[in-house]
Amino acid sequence: MGRSVFECGTCDRTVQPDAAIRSSTFGGLDDDRWETMCCPHCGERLKTVFVG
Ligand SMILES: [Zn+2]
Repeated sequence: MGRSVFECGTCDRTVQPDAAIRSSTFGGLDDDRWETMCCPHCGERLKTVFVG
């Protein structure tokens, strides 16, 4: 299974998906469909993913 990891451009660390902090989305996206993955080290947003 090719699990993708996130790379934080702010603190230059690689973040495993399991370690990423999931938070509510910004900008009015539907929280039931989208979640934002944040860096556990610096809190920077890494990616917003579609969850259904
Ligand atoms: Zn970071």
